[in-house]
Amino acid sequence: MAMRLSSLFLRTLREDPADAEVPSHRLLVRAGYIRRTSPGIYTWLPLGLRVLRNVERIVREEMDGIGAQEILFPALLPREPYDASGRWTDYGDNIFRLQDRKGNDYLLGPTHEEMFTLAVKDMFSSYKDLPLALYQIQIKYRDEARPRAGILRGREFVMKDSYSFDIDDAGLDVSYQAHRDAYVRIFDRLGFDYVIVQAMSGAMGGSRSEEFLATAVNGEDTYVHCPNCGYAANVEAVQVPTPEPIPYSGLPAAHVEDTPDTPTIDTLVASANAHHPRADGRAWTAADTLKNVIVMLVHPDGTREPLAIGLAGDREVDEKRLGAQVEPARVEAFEEKDFAAHPSLAKGYLGPGVLGSERPSGIRYLLDPRVVPGTAWITGADEHGRHVFDLVAGRDFTADGTIEAAEVRDGDACPSCGSALESARGIEMGHIFQLGRKYAEALGLQVLDEQGKLKTVTMGSYGVGCSRAVACIAEGNHDESGLIWPRNISPADVHVVATGKDEEVHAFAEELTGALEAVGVGVILDDRRAASPGVKFKDAELIGVPTIVVVGRGLADGTIEIKDRRSGERREVRTDSAVSEILAEIGRT
Ligand code: ATP
Ligand code: MG
Repeated sequence: MAMRLSSLFLRTLREDPADAEVPSHRLLVRAGYIRRTSPGIYTWLPLGLRVLRNVERIVREEMDGIGAQEILFPALLPREPYDASGRWTDYGDNIFRLQDRKGNDYLLGPTHEEMFTLAVKDMFSSYKDLPLALYQIQIKYRDEARPRAGILRGREFVMKDSYSFDIDDAGLDVSYQAHRDAYVRIFDRLGFDYVIVQAMSGAMGGSRSEEFLATAVNGEDTYVHCPNCGYAANVEAVQVPTPEPIPYSGLPAAHVEDTPDTPTIDTLVASANAHHPRADGRAWTAADTLKNVIVMLVHPDGTREPLAIGLAGDREVDEKRLGAQVEPARVEAFEEKDFAAHPSLAKGYLGPGVLGSERPSGIRYLLDPRVVPGTAWITGADEHGRHVFDLVAGRDFTADGTIEAAEVRDGDACPSCGSALESARGIEMGHIFQLGRKYAEALGLQVLDEQGKLKTVTMGSYGVGCSRAVACIAEGNHDESGLIWPRNISPADVHVVATGKDEEVHAFAEELTGALEAVGVGVILDDRRAASPGVKFKDAELIGVPTIVVVGRGLADGTIEIKDRRSGERREVRTDSAVSEILAEIGRT
């Protein structure tokens, strides 16, 4: 049935919603696609629901196409499976928890690895049952710390999640590749500009994990890519190439110097150049200093653990890279009171002398991978107003390990070929991930192999943010007047505008709508009698159906107008050939 604007459940807004930061949020609310219910939680209105269903249809077709079978789990889940996997605790504040009348714990599912694992364990028992791929398109709940940009980062959102089950690693590789290929088809059909980047594989180190990022200047994810070799990775996953160690022989001995009032890298470099110039005549720079940053980790069970990070003074700690490394712990600032609780720490003059689990502070100390043995540094001497010069890694100090937490910058060496990396931003649209045996082990998913022996199943997990995709498509397809949907996502194929009050105009618009519907064309018909042509044109542009048909003054001369929403091009066509002209315009013949 055509959607008639005289009766459609729609109110377009002339003003931007006050809380909208990005175009997709602004326009989806103004054009009447979604409406906010509470922070990060949105209601889908008729137009929005059509768009969401179109995204889901494409995702569903491609999942079915690789032989994945659709099922549907409840969103309301019991605690026990999530206890078994450890995620009841690990998710911390990020899940919605609730209790039934008997006091039993439940959660609203943030993702369903546990449930799929248990379902397969429940029903299948032999290698002959594998490989298997299952999926669902379902509403997920995450109590995001910062819900943002409307449906882009919601606390309730629609995700397609699928899971593959294989008897061995070779099988997992095949399942993973099938999903990867399907994702390429999905994102091509959704009309995205996207990149596939290496992603963090979390605790499962070594397994493959890739993200599909829609390229977007206001995306939350930063990725780097190498124009030379094609390497691309989320900055979270970049592994800095480690330089070769340098022999200690010939390196001067470490010496402590007075450096009063130098609590920052800039003041330290200035003081070093003024009072302790280098023997070789080169000036000291921030890159010669070893900066020691302390943060407070808060583990899911609430325990707090300080962590010190040593890195060259010309780089900052990147919050997201650090966050990804210490997950599921959360990073908080190390505050004055924390310094007070650790008297061995001289704020502003921290050094490897006291940092480390075997050192006076007892604080775990991790180094940037570039701080290799033989590198010499100026760093804090753990006394106010004093620094140590020529302190050599490996010779004069050691740490508890390394950490990938330093910012990655444009021009940094590509880990794969050494060329200069470039950075850009994107929105995570999909994530494919070789889980391996983590969940199968935790929940006891085993099947009998060919020899009749029990074998733990290996799994993959694959997600697409369907509701986020709607926002993302809007983000990439709009102008100052409104949305411009790609054809296969649009809530309708054609938006017919009948202007004026003239009965003949309305009669023809109705007739045309009927004729288009009869050949399977989806129509929005603006049949409002009281609205002015200006209001109708504005609404048509805002709503963003890619083809707008205007039935108005020209009708007297036997013509109507077809307008391309994206290019703005318009052409007049004869009324007697209107249907075939419109079919040609929308790419159907
Ligand atoms: P992010 O890093 O953006 O928080 P994630 O890595 O936690 O996402 P996954 O667990 O990989 O997300 O979920 C699979 C997909 O679900 C993501 O690729 C994304 O498209 C979508 N998604 C995740 N969180 C949200 C959210 N809060 N709102 C909308 N879509 C989301
Ligand atoms: Mg992800």
